Order: sequence, then structure tokens, then C-alpha cells
Amino acid sequence: MADTHRVLIVGGGFGGLYAAQALKRAPVSVTLIDKRNFHLFQPLLYQVATGSLSPGEIAAPIRAVLSKQKNTQVLLGDAVDIDPDTRRVHLRDGAEVEYDSLIVATGSQSSYFGHNDWARWAPALKTIEDATAIRHKIVAAFEAAERMTDPDERRAWLTFVIVGAGPTGVELAGALGEIANHSLKHDFRSIRPEDARILIVDSSPRVLPTYPEDLSQKAEKQLIRLNARVRNGLMVVGVDENGVTVKTKSGEEQHIHSHTVIWAAGVAISDFGRKLAERTRAETQRNGQINVAPDLTIPQYPNIYVVGDLAYVKRPDGRPLPGVAQVAMQGGAYAAHTIVKRLKGETNIKPFHYFDKGDLAVIGRAAAVANVFGVHLWGFPAWLVWLFIHLMYIVEFQSRLLVFVEWGFLYLTYSRGALLITGPAARELVTKKPAHLEAETQSTE
Ligand SMILES: Cc1cc2nc3c(=O)[nH]c(=O)nc-3n(C[C@H](O)[C@H](O)[C@H](O)COP(=O)(O)OP(=O)(O)OC[C@H]3O[C@@H](n4cnc5c(N)ncnc54)[C@H](O)[C@@H]3O)c2cc1C
Repeated sequence: MADTHRVLIVGGGFGGLYAAQALKRAPVSVTLIDKRNFHLFQPLLYQVATGSLSPGEIAAPIRAVLSKQKNTQVLLGDAVDIDPDTRRVHLRDGAEVEYDSLIVATGSQSSYFGHNDWARWAPALKTIEDATAIRHKIVAAFEAAERMTDPDERRAWLTFVIVGAGPTGVELAGALGEIANHSLKHDFRSIRPEDARILIVDSSPRVLPTYPEDLSQKAEKQLIRLNARVRNGLMVVGVDENGVTVKTKSGEEQHIHSHTVIWAAGVAISDFGRKLAERTRAETQRNGQINVAPDLTIPQYPNIYVVGDLAYVKRPDGRPLPGVAQVAMQGGAYAAHTIVKRLKGETNIKPFHYFDKGDLAVIGRAAAVANVFGVHLWGFPAWLVWLFIHLMYIVEFQSRLLVFVEWGFLYLTYSRGALLITGPAARELVTKKPAHLEAETQSTE
């Protein structure tokens, strides 16, 4: 084993996991490091945020997924630094891991465009913890509205603002629309959940700006059906506990009074990605993505591959590849196969080619828009395609069946079993004085 080529993979998301699986039968020893012990199926995060799935159903322990892969060891660790010349990755706890070939797939994180203070009032959706925090926020808003007597405050609690009109924003708005119009419809006495205002704000001229224009229009129609409204051409210039301040194209500022703002705009690369770029002196984009060579390696470091959200790769027509799971999976598998080819002495390595299968966004119950191999679908047929593809890719067989049964039940009953407020959020809700009572207390002092 001493001379076996050592492949180190940092990140067990879509890119890292597919790289590891592609090396299953390769004559190499693989180490996969992730700071979480599970692989997260991010495309279903918003289902957790809106209470139709539980966290355990969209995550699988990486160790279990790779347990049959004898040449692979899984380590829990947070990569913080790298020495590309001595070929070592440093972990937060002080340990070092050596490699011969390295695949970095540490993905991206939410970006508030330099306004990190907005995160407090407008959580983003990236992790399991984010999804449960957003779920608490949504359910708590309906609870607060039910107790509110002041009409302005009640309206603010029933106003949900989603910043960002990309797939995440659109999918969240659709699911929120379902909750308000169907799941909670009969559960309250003072409020009508279907009166909830769901607003998507974005500076772009249309929703799903990277999709074909006809599908953007179909998506907007499906959102309107669920009482969600899109307000395009608005730049967010402020977020606080009372809502969002937006600026119109003409420079006029408007305030949207809301206690539930969700951030679905902007991504930046992971911290380790930033360190990697610094240590290898790689060129980066403004959002930090690393410009890689056509074989996904870092120029000057042919043994370091960067895949997934972290890599900046151009298509032949000059447009960059999108930050989607398929790009990461195909990139991970390509890097793995290229390492094996190079070990065999092959020098004629073909550049990475992304096989684009299309785009999909789901909008509530039984509606979606899809561009599959150039064929445009919407409504129920698009939703069936969406359902099929997502179930196919959920990593563990067990949870695939579970999710299928759960969705079937939800579809028939409109119920949302996971709309629970748990943990510290539950306690805070009944112990913290509501803002309007705080104000009253102060004025009588
Ligand atoms: C809410 C949401 C919805 C989405 N919906 C879709 C969709 O419908 N379709 C689609 O195709 N794509 C969707 N995406 C995008 C898709 O999930 C990403 O493009 C994909 O996950 C990128 O894969 P990756 O391997 O680059 O990174 P990730 O899958 O993010 O994996 C990165 C991994 O690296 C680990 N890591 C990070 N830093 C370190 C470190 N320092 N040390 C060790 N480990 C580390 C993380 O724990 C994580 O496991 C969605 C994303 C989000 C957030």
C-alpha cells in the first residue's frame, strides 16, 4: 500500500461524492474529508424550510454512502489551509493530510454583497440549520399574526419577502404559497393564512433570469396562482427587523414592512476555496470562483482539481457553467477519471465537457417549469419530471422510498407534517415580548 497513489478529496457534496464513487475500482487510496458527517441534498432544502420534509430525509451519512468502497476512508475534519508545494492540507484541529492528487469540492456559501449584518434578519438557505431556522420563522410569523390586533402589524407578520428571483427564490415562494393557501387554510381563527402576501424582489427584469423567457413567464403565472407576486427591477439597499428597503430604477426608495425576509440571492465561494486560491496564486472571479484550466486543474498545479460551485468554467460559447448539482457531479467524475488516466500514462486528456440536461424549478404542488434537452415543459408534466429526477438522485435507497411515500401522502392530503417549531426557537417565541408590547412598556415608563 506504501506506493499507492493518494487521492485526497475535500468536500463530500455533489462534486466530492461523485469523485469518490468514480474512484471505486481505481488502484488508488482515497481519503474524503468533510466538516459535516453527512452529504446534503441541497435541492430539497426548501422542502425542509417549508415543512414538507424532515432534515434526515434529505441527508445521508457520507460514511454510510461509501461504506462498501474498500479503497476509501472518510474523515470528519475542517480543511483550513493548504501547502500546494509540499502537498499537504491542514485541518482546523492541527492535523495534516498528505496527498498526491487533490480534488477540492468545498462548494459555495451565501453572500450578502458585503452586508453581512442583513443575515440576522434575512436568513439564507444553504444548510440544514438554515432550513430549520427558516421553517421556525415562517411558522412563527403565522402564530404572531394570529395574536396581533394592530392591523398594520398583522399585515407585516403576514408579509413574506424573498430576496432573489432565481430557482431558490421561486421554489421557496411556491412552497410558501402552498402553505398559506392550502396547508394552513383551516387552522387559524383570527387570520386568513391565504391573505399572506408573498413578494419576490430582484433587480433582474424577470424571474428565473437564466431560463428561457417563455419559461420565466410560465413560472410567474404559476406563482400568481399561489398569490405570490414578483417585483422586478428593485435593488435591496437595507434589511432590518421591520422589513426591506428597496431602490427602484429611478432611484426612489421604498420600504416593505415585513417580519419575515428570506435571502435567496448571491453566493460566494467557501472559505477553504479562498485559501486555496491564495496559496496557489490562482486567478479568481469577483465572487471568488477559481479560474481553472480546461481539465479542471489549477494552472501551475496539475495535481489539484477544482470542481463544482468553486470552479469557474466557461462553455464553448463563453457563458460560465451554472452552480448546479449536475455540473458538480460531472466535474467530480471527470477529475477522478482524469487522475486514473494520468496514472496509466495517458497524456492526451480531453477537456471537461458539461453534458447539459436542462433546468428545472418546482413551484408549489404539482407545478414546475422544465427545460429538458431543449424541450420546454410546465405545469403538471414538468412537475412529474422534477419528481422523478429528484427521487432518482437522493443518495440513500432507504430515504428515497421514504421521501416518495411522504410526498405521495402530502400530495393527497395537503398536510405538512414537519411544520413544527422546536429547540430554542420554540422557547423564545413564548418568552420574548413582542416588539409592539416592548414599545408600549417603554412609553409607559
Ligand atoms: C437551496 C438550494 C437549492 C438548490 N437547488 C438546486 C436544484 O434544484 N438543482 C440543482 O442542480 N442544483 C441546486 N442547487 C445547487 C447545488 O446544490 C450546488 O450547485 C451543488 O451542491 C454544488 O456541489 P459542490 O460539490 O460544489 O458543493 P456542495 O454540494 O455544497 O458540497 C460542499 C461540501 O464541502 C464541505 N466543506 C465545505 N468547506 C469545507 C472545509 N473547509 N472542510 C471540509 N469540508 C468542507 C461541505 O460540508 C459540503 O459537504 C441548490 C442549492 C441550494 C442552496
